[in-house]
Amino acid sequence: MIKHRLFPYYLATILSLWLIGFTQTSAGELQLFDAHVHYNEDIWQAIPTEDAIKRLKKQGIRRAIVSSTPANGAINLFNQDPELVIPFLRPYRTPDDRYNWYKNPDILKYVRSQLKSFDYRGLGEFHLYGSQVNTPVMKGILKLARENNLILLAHSNHETIDALLTAAPNLTVIWAHGGFDVDSNIVTNKLRKNKNLYIELSFREGITEKDVLTPKWRDVFMAYPSRFLVGTDTYIGERWMVLPELTDHFQRWLKQLPPDIAEAIAYKNGERIAARKPTMN
Ligand SMILES: [Zn+2]
Repeated sequence: MIKHRLFPYYLATILSLWLIGFTQTSAGELQLFDAHVHYNEDIWQAIPTEDAIKRLKKQGIRRAIVSSTPANGAINLFNQDPELVIPFLRPYRTPDDRYNWYKNPDILKYVRSQLKSFDYRGLGEFHLYGSQVNTPVMKGILKLARENNLILLAHSNHETIDALLTAAPNLTVIWAHGGFDVDSNIVTNKLRKNKNLYIELSFREGITEKDVLTPKWRDVFMAYPSRFLVGTDTYIGERWMVLPELTDHFQRWLKQLPPDIAEAIAYKNGERIAARKPTMN
């Protein structure tokens, strides 16, 4: 009788240990898919590739979308750990390209030649505002993105994200920072209308108050659990230095959600998007 009663307990224990093994690190923290890592030139000397990978892994980051200015930062990091790094191409040869890339024909040539020389998984993070999405250069870049089935990682305001989704209806679009401080209703309206849109959460305001998940954002995550990604946005060296604080913050609020939703946002959504080239409809 006792044996019989204990059996389900053992089974449950084994099952939960097995599940933990898949979704949590040994310290009980959630594994993370970081959708927003930069490995820019200004940090290469202070944090060489081996050290960068160690820092990411130490925080439970098992996979990461990595881009850099110039592009070989992401490629070098990929060569250091091809399992962890998912390389994206920034359309910037230098930091200054950020301000006019969308209308510079040389950038279109640059993107075309980069895509021929390396199997990038996506384009971005790029900055794009207002009518910039409609330039001839942007048309060419979006055509290349379609031909190569690339994911787009866009830092844009919410009007421009709409324009980008209209211009690239069949591509997976990740909205970097989720509009920073725009109302959560604007975010959820876009998610409802666009099945190919995902939200990356670095610098996204309003999610917590004193480390407690706000009711508003809890509702958003519960309504669209498959559409959010966490990101650290290591755009300057300082962000690499505070990586533990950034990931600890994610861990704290993610754990306030039901475990399956926390795991989806922490890791599984990113893993699913990155697993294969997005399909074209
Ligand atoms: Zn950004």
